[in-house]
Amino acid sequence: MTLHPVQSFVAGEWVMPGERARPIADAATGEVFAEAGHGGLDFGAIREFAITKGGPALRAMGFHDRARMLKALAAYLNERRAPLYRLSHRTGATMADNRIDIDGGIGTMFVIASKGRREMPDGDVYLDGGLEALSRGGSFVGQHVCTALQGVAVHINAFNFPVWGMLEKLAPTLLAGMPAIVKPATASGYVAEAAVRIMLESGILPEGALQLVSGDPGDLLDRLDGQDVVSFTGSAATALTLRSNHTLLSGAVRFVAEQDSLNATILGPDAAPGTPEFDLFLKEAHREMTAKAGQKCTAIRRILVPEPHVEAVIDGLSQRLAATRIGAPERETTRMGALISQAQRQDVLAQAEKIAAEAERVHGDPDAFEVDGADARAGAFLPPMLYHCADPDRAARVHDTEAFGPVATVMGYAGLDHAAALANRGGGSLVVSLVTNDPNVARTVTMESAAYHGRIYINNRTAMDESTGHGSPLPHMVHGGPGRAGGGEELGGVRGVLHYMQRTAIQGSPDMLTAITGQWQKGAARPEAATHPFTRAFEDLAIGDTLETGERAVTLEDIEHFAAFTGDRFYAHMDEAAALRNPFFPGRVAHGYLILSFAAGLFVRPDEGPVLANTGLENLRFLKPVPPGAAIRVRLTVKRKTRRTDSYGEVRWNVEVVDQDGDAVAEYDLLTMVRYRAPRPR
Ligand code: NAP
Repeated sequence: MTLHPVQSFVAGEWVMPGERARPIADAATGEVFAEAGHGGLDFGAIREFAITKGGPALRAMGFHDRARMLKALAAYLNERRAPLYRLSHRTGATMADNRIDIDGGIGTMFVIASKGRREMPDGDVYLDGGLEALSRGGSFVGQHVCTALQGVAVHINAFNFPVWGMLEKLAPTLLAGMPAIVKPATASGYVAEAAVRIMLESGILPEGALQLVSGDPGDLLDRLDGQDVVSFTGSAATALTLRSNHTLLSGAVRFVAEQDSLNATILGPDAAPGTPEFDLFLKEAHREMTAKAGQKCTAIRRILVPEPHVEAVIDGLSQRLAATRIGAPERETTRMGALISQAQRQDVLAQAEKIAAEAERVHGDPDAFEVDGADARAGAFLPPMLYHCADPDRAARVHDTEAFGPVATVMGYAGLDHAAALANRGGGSLVVSLVTNDPNVARTVTMESAAYHGRIYINNRTAMDESTGHGSPLPHMVHGGPGRAGGGEELGGVRGVLHYMQRTAIQGSPDMLTAITGQWQKGAARPEAATHPFTRAFEDLAIGDTLETGERAVTLEDIEHFAAFTGDRFYAHMDEAAALRNPFFPGRVAHGYLILSFAAGLFVRPDEGPVLANTGLENLRFLKPVPPGAAIRVRLTVKRKTRRTDSYGEVRWNVEVVDQDGDAVAEYDLLTMVRYRAPRPR
């Protein structure tokens, strides 16, 4: 039988496996069906291709263009999931596992794309924080900005999630504007290869943005420098080898590591048998032990329960585990499939042996279990195995041994401090979960334990119907953890994009910063517009264009009218003596909202025109009280423009309301939607 050749895609060409190719077996049948590995690739040329082709093409686009590209890519993949599902069953993954890996990966790409559009500018410079005033007169200011690194991102991925693991790194990398070289784990790299083929055939990505190395990455790491990033997911041992690379160390090459983790779950003292939380706890622990046959970096390895409930937890969990149907991954009735390989199965058994030195196995016998529709010995099957450690304080292996399969250990704790201390003995984890209905328990555990975990997942009767699961990293939230977990941080919305960008402190005059950032900065020139800006289409508005309005007096009658009309009769507007007793006011003053309304009256144009809607105000500050007799006018400046749809975009205006002395009395950002002169592609 000819083996399926798992190819590499480098420098614009697909390359067949070469002499260093390794055979790959179907996880559930043991049949060798594929081979992956190359016969030696020119990694210098591969990096060069990324840097000279992919990088410039990506950087020529802005964040929103790249976000649109990612959205299109995710949609393209989404339509082509079926062949990926079929192939992925060969990794031992059930349909539920596929949904985590394939649907989850595509969903992650969609979310990152959407965050790129909503939270990053429609340009190529990301502003990190606000403007820093560095001088008294405001002629010298500072701003932190982030721009794409000019090297390549090397992604080295683990075997367990060939699609999610790839896309959760790829989406932020491409959004940042950096090309990627993906090196999947060999054992499941055929699924990653299939997904890469789909992405490349879509024609959505620019040349050089994505390359694939199936097999070992040769001397690639020795060729990197400070403009490159290595983003690694895998075991702590491999991470240590890779991050010790001399070139990476001497060149200060960024190395983001997501490695193994002895995640714990804690049953709150209040969550006794009979409560909804107790059942929820069993359900989550069961799911985390069995999903993906326990081969999840976030899987629960340690189950911490109040000492009096140990027996009830072991009984309840054992019942659920006993009812879990293990079998051929493609069968609809299968709840747990196979491990990735026989080697992985042996490794899990070897690690479980270490745990067994300190804990008693209370459920699951690897020598006696049923498998539906597959040969239990030919495939890499294992039953879920539950251990009980009676003395977790003196034990060590249960806290530091990762059996990367369906293996977990129950431990009793005496009090909340003890529970947190045990959770922390994992030496740094990706996630700890807590099932409690008591907010005080949640706070205590967080304060005692947050420093040791990248994520704390708290569940109770209120959240349980909508909670996303202990083991699910979400694109919105950071994924990573300290110490043993690698010290890395991925995802977390825009935070994950910044790994692939350089933060630079820019110092200079406001005009310089306006030119660099594409956003009008306070103190920069405000050329007065020849025509009212509200009469001009999106394209015809330039950053800094300013309207200076006429003046409007504010009278006592205005204030009283506004109070009567709105019902806002706060004493500072209505009672002179009371207002004088207040430390903020010089006597009766106008309502802040009256100032805003008068401001709108000064700059708004009544006729139908390109301005479609006012969608909000941001950063509103009232800076100086406006007493009756004062006069106000407005400076309206185009601050930032963002394309939103194919017919209109958002214009953010800086609105400064000043009084007769020229002092600012209010300042805010006004958001409007403004029509394009001509329709344009989104
Ligand atoms: P692994 O053996 O450490 O391999 C991870 C990746 O590193 C694979 O792509 C592997 O390629 C590559 N690799 C291994 N040795 C290398 C070397 N000398 N030079 C360059 N690349 C090398 O881990 P795994 O068995 O695939 O995955 C399981 C582990 O990953 C578990 O410990 C799990 O906890 C961890 N994990 C962590 C996360 C997380 O987000 N924190 C997620 C998933 C998994 P080959 O396959 O070609 O050897």
